[in-house]
Amino acid sequence: MRDPVLVINCGSSSIKYALVPGDPASPRQSGLAERLGGDDARLKGIDGDGQHFARPLHGADHAAAMAAILDGLDGAHPVAVGHRIVHGGERFTRATRIDAAVLRAIEATGALAPLHNPANLVGVHATLALFPERPQVAVFDTAFHQTLPPRAYRYALPQHLYARHGIRRYGFHGSSHAHVSARVDTLSARAHGGWLIAHLGNGCSTCAVWQGQSLDTSMGLTPLEGLVMGTRSGDVDPGLHAHLGRQLGWSLERIDTLLNKESGLLGLSGLSNDMRRLEQAAAEHHAGAELAIEVFCYRIAKSLAALSCALPRLDGIVFTGGIGENAAAVRARVVEALPHFGLRLSAAANAATVGGHEGRIDTDQGGPELWVIPTDEEGRIAFETRQLLDESQP
Ligand code: ADP
Repeated sequence: MRDPVLVINCGSSSIKYALVPGDPASPRQSGLAERLGGDDARLKGIDGDGQHFARPLHGADHAAAMAAILDGLDGAHPVAVGHRIVHGGERFTRATRIDAAVLRAIEATGALAPLHNPANLVGVHATLALFPERPQVAVFDTAFHQTLPPRAYRYALPQHLYARHGIRRYGFHGSSHAHVSARVDTLSARAHGGWLIAHLGNGCSTCAVWQGQSLDTSMGLTPLEGLVMGTRSGDVDPGLHAHLGRQLGWSLERIDTLLNKESGLLGLSGLSNDMRRLEQAAAEHHAGAELAIEVFCYRIAKSLAALSCALPRLDGIVFTGGIGENAAAVRARVVEALPHFGLRLSAAANAATVGGHEGRIDTDQGGPELWVIPTDEEGRIAFETRQLLDESQP
């Protein structure tokens, strides 16, 4: 069996990891070190025997947490480490082996993702210190969307903002869209056609994929553009910032917090950012929850319709992410809001395809296909890491 790849997704106060075996059928060890820096820091996950565990890390920083993770993986010999890096700018169009020059380039891209890239790099430095002899590979959330044509990635702003400051649409969730579009191409008879993908988790984005390449996506310069998300607003009138500044005296910091942390499903419902909670509340006729779900679904449909313009032909729609994989009622409402697409949802298949199951949920009577495909961002990062290493073998 081939050695596993260790996948690291390092955030500002957390590290997610997965040890992805070479054989996809083998079980995966995975876990999360969270609340790093706090007294209540802890590590939880699934060990090599498939057992759940949780233990305190008392004030551990990223380096200490990484050491604890590796300790828990005792006996595992990862062939390489694949790091999720949020922003690769225009420089990184695919997974890249990390060396000093690549580290500098990722740091330079930090201005475009000040909350994410520096945190991702902490993970890289920690594993470089602990595993200096192992190849380290950066897999970028933006790389899959570097095939967007200018008509999709340019904003209608003065040219110098793009040329000098990189102000353009980049797109995110690339590992998820890459995984799901590759998977549907292996499952459907309409392989290598035109697919619309709806990744619906805490963050949400849509993507138009033609013959395996991303042609447009709903997220832009930052992961705030596009759909309604758990706590993110998605699209608002760009005039909102000036309006709130002038009328309410709000600072840019305040507006940033509003749009990223207090909006979306949480802001609309006044209740929660969690779709399970909202579905429960809506069943009990909570007006805020009902409205939040309605706006959420309508905006997904509107985005899919808009992105269909990027495709020469529409072969189907794929749902993924925690909501896309589990919330059958959300999928049904999105399909219902696209009446002119000729979609035929199978109510039975839709209701049955939840809980991490993969499957086709249309009635197979012609028209675009409908699929549910669980995302696997860690699996994709491991796949791209391995692919890069295989290519560089003599
Ligand atoms: P992240 O983007 O953080 O990886 P996930 O992809 O896990 O998030 O998605 C989280 C979302 O999925 C939450 O809104 C959660 O309520 C929703 N979700 C998970 N399971 C279900 C379910 N059975 N029914 C409805 N929504 C669900």
